[in-house]
Amino acid sequence: MIEQQHIDRFIALLGPKGVTTDPDDVRPWTSDWRDRYHGAAAAILSPASTQEVAATVALAADLDIALVPQGGNTSMVGGATPPADGSALILSLRRMNRIRSLRADDNLAVCEAGVILSVLHDAAEDAGRRFPLSLGAKGSATIGGLVSTNAGGTQVLRHGTMRALVEGIEAVLPDGSIFDGLDALKKDNRGYDIKQLLIGAEGTLGVVTAAALRLVPAIAARAVGWVGVQTPADALALLRLTETMLGDSVEGFEVLADETLGFVLGHIPGTRAPIETRTPWHVLVEIDHADLSDPSPAERLEGALAEAFERGIAIDAAIATNEAQADAFWRIRESLSESERAQGPALQYDISVPVAKMPAFMIEAAAAAQARFPGTTASSFGHLGDGNVHFHVRAPKGTSDGPAWIAAEGQAINAFVHDAVVAAGGSISAEHGIGQMKRAELGRLASPARIAALCAIKAAFDPRGLFNPGKLIPLPDEI
Ligand SMILES: Cc1cc2nc3c(=O)[nH]c(=O)nc-3n(C[C@H](O)[C@H](O)[C@H](O)COP(=O)(O)OP(=O)(O)OC[C@H]3O[C@@H](n4cnc5c(N)ncnc54)[C@H](O)[C@@H]3O)c2cc1C
Repeated sequence: MIEQQHIDRFIALLGPKGVTTDPDDVRPWTSDWRDRYHGAAAAILSPASTQEVAATVALAADLDIALVPQGGNTSMVGGATPPADGSALILSLRRMNRIRSLRADDNLAVCEAGVILSVLHDAAEDAGRRFPLSLGAKGSATIGGLVSTNAGGTQVLRHGTMRALVEGIEAVLPDGSIFDGLDALKKDNRGYDIKQLLIGAEGTLGVVTAAALRLVPAIAARAVGWVGVQTPADALALLRLTETMLGDSVEGFEVLADETLGFVLGHIPGTRAPIETRTPWHVLVEIDHADLSDPSPAERLEGALAEAFERGIAIDAAIATNEAQADAFWRIRESLSESERAQGPALQYDISVPVAKMPAFMIEAAAAAQARFPGTTASSFGHLGDGNVHFHVRAPKGTSDGPAWIAAEGQAINAFVHDAVVAAGGSISAEHGIGQMKRAELGRLASPARIAALCAIKAAFDPRGLFNPGKLIPLPDEI
């Protein structure tokens, strides 16, 4: 445990507003969103400026205290949960929540790390622009967390992950020095790209304090459709058809099984099925135009769907007739994680395989998992066009003690699913990161060259291992 005299040093540095010690206020931030990991921390440090972050990090280094950077605490892999032995303090960016600038002429927003994603969405919209990355946790996830997990979401198909949207970064490195990389230069060949090393580093190389983010023109018109299909292979055929006919206006393309839709309808109040036919699989597709002189996106989507019916790819379809209906279609997609959580105990895998292999993987891996672990049900949903789905294995019906089921079966199911992913040439983490949940599996499955490079980079930035201990980097006995 960390001594009170050390906490007092942080209070002297940051003032009482910058240090939370009341256990009732600290506790909610010591468990993860899925309530899978439970840590402990004597305090949450919340500096209010980059200089205060730098001073906090320097003091922690002096006192040999580990820090766990935390944003909205929506990590799906226990990435922001402190260690259970109370040996670290939480470093929260919640008071650094200013949008420092937002320039439509430059298509650039400079945001502090604690800015919540939906706040940036609204500010960009007010300026006639938008930040083209969205996900179910947009009301809580912060820019610092999104950068540090290289988050993806539902617009990656067209705009890429955070790696493609971050133009510059300001960060405090483990020795307390400030890396000022907010210059957002189009061209910069000064050797290693420090910004890209920090993106996706999961708080293990330092703490991001601000980021310069690329904006795109606001949507002038959009069409959102819901399409019922027979198989994931048909869903992929529909994606390729819409891309061929509609070009890069395809902004979102999400796939889910009918069973998964049923969870949303059962658990999320006010939702209803967009089409009448309960087809085995469903697709949510959005096409966008930034230019009002283009023909109506709804007409263009209708044309593509007519062709899909003609070719026998689509079974049923609906195009939202107004914005409220379009939002209702998206609400279903954005509620999938929440409804899966409400459905009962499950193991979740955020995996990617080459796009062309994904339809077969979705069917075959689910069938194989169910056969190998009798009573379980498996299915997947998500970003088919990115070759990334969230593959869930649910506990047998009637399982009342989820943690006990996970303790008994989790390791075997993890290994089974991850081995199948690796055999298909994929990645065990497509967008959520490694955190503590997948650390040992990364150690088991990654090549020696990948592990050696990860460890060398970690040692170069944080030789004393004070940043987010126990996350991402496999322990020696896990390699
Ligand atoms: C309902 C739901 C849906 C989701 N959907 C998606 C999705 O579609 N795509 C996707 O990619 N993710 C998704 N996620 C996961 C999650 O929202 C993202 O990982 C998000 O980027 C985390 O942001 P956060 O601010 O909550 O970070 P936290 O959870 O607080 O932290 C995440 C990681 O980043 C580190 N970190 C946080 N802030 C900083 C900082 N300032 N500097 C350095 N390190 C930092 C933490 O130490 C931790 O390792 C979803 C989560 C939920 C709950």
